[in-house]
Amino acid sequence: MRNLKKADPEIYKAILDETMRENENLELIASENFVDEAILEAQGSVLTNKYAEGYPQARWYNGCHHVDVIEALAAERARSVFGAEHVNVQPHSGTQANMAVYFSMLKPGDTVLAMDLACGGHLSHGHSHNFSGKFYRIVPYGLNRKTETLDYSEIAALAKENKPKMILAGASAYPRAMDFKKFREIADSVGAFLLVDIAHIAGLIAAGLHQNPVPHAEFVTSTTHKTMRGPRGGFIMCKKEFGKRIDTEVFPGIQGGPLVHVIAAKAVCFKEALKPSFKTYQKQILKNARALSDEMAGRGYRIVAGGTDTHLFLVDLSKKSMTGKDASTALDKAGITVNKNLIPFDKESPFVTSGVRIGSPAVTTRGMKEKEMRRIAELIDMVLRDPANKKNLSGVRKRVDALVKEFPLYKELIKRLEKE
Ligand SMILES: *Cc1c(COP(=O)(O)O)cnc(C)c1O
Repeated sequence: MRNLKKADPEIYKAILDETMRENENLELIASENFVDEAILEAQGSVLTNKYAEGYPQARWYNGCHHVDVIEALAAERARSVFGAEHVNVQPHSGTQANMAVYFSMLKPGDTVLAMDLACGGHLSHGHSHNFSGKFYRIVPYGLNRKTETLDYSEIAALAKENKPKMILAGASAYPRAMDFKKFREIADSVGAFLLVDIAHIAGLIAAGLHQNPVPHAEFVTSTTHKTMRGPRGGFIMCKKEFGKRIDTEVFPGIQGGPLVHVIAAKAVCFKEALKPSFKTYQKQILKNARALSDEMAGRGYRIVAGGTDTHLFLVDLSKKSMTGKDASTALDKAGITVNKNLIPFDKESPFVTSGVRIGSPAVTTRGMKEKEMRRIAELIDMVLRDPANKKNLSGVRKRVDALVKEFPLYKELIKRLEKE
């Protein structure tokens, strides 16, 4: 970053500081990960210069023969990772991937059956300030109060009653496996089409460790930056018959020129996902999430839905007379990064919450295994037992330092930066 250092020392310093922050803390935010340097290189390339409105072999600009190679490879690799008929790799984010599906298939006012945000759904599944909540009639489905898992018979009943045009499956904070085949049956029973949003679990699906919705749904949307461990971005998979509609809705419908540098990084990410090492990584994510949640449960914390089948789990702190906000703030001071999160049927507001969400993808990327998960659970427990005690927090901070030093992140990159 020598040139940046000269041109803009303030931004240079902030990037440097962020690199160190990522290296020095325990990252347990379930939606975050650390990309490979190969991805940073693709994303930091001259591709950012190129306008490429349109699609490979059908562009509105000249000089697109190289970026055509890149976009075609990205789409072809995504197709083979997930077994999809058609893929659009241009959405700038997961939200925009969802927007393209809504806009291509629905009219304003149409009914959409989607997971309640308070039970783990995403903003783009009907939040009142989001386009989805403003333009459509959202009917939320929740979870079974006892099991805290999806209640397919209740979803089926809601579908019968409300006759949605679209059913949306997928969530941001749901720890258990989802049955997309059942969602398909429900959609068919009322003549709705099915959108499955796999933003969080795409990596697990790519590795064959979670049921793949692609054979069952007309549309599947995702991000590339969560368990997929690629650049920040989105993509859409659909049946061939909807391919043209989706492409036209992404561009010129809701976006202008595609971010070709990000698409190149997506291509690198999909190539990674085709390697056996990706499966090993995803398996370890699952083992680590389980080890961490089991150890937390063993230490007396209530785990929502009794555990996890995925990369994340929710800890209910309501019986510990602590809010999610206070817990996440105290953990932050000790170098442990989690996010506060509503638990099902939470009595607190979304800003306060009664829980925290914990995910294993980022620490797994650092090379940590079950043994380290048990150490992390112990550290979390130490913080939450005495969250206002500064000495306690600085003691844990020291132990976090020792742990992260055993699993250095961006070692080569940081070495180069230190030389500058
Ligand atoms: C993260 C997420 C998205 C998309 O997020 P962006 O920040 O817009 O990329 C979409 N759906 C779900 C379920 C998510 O968890």
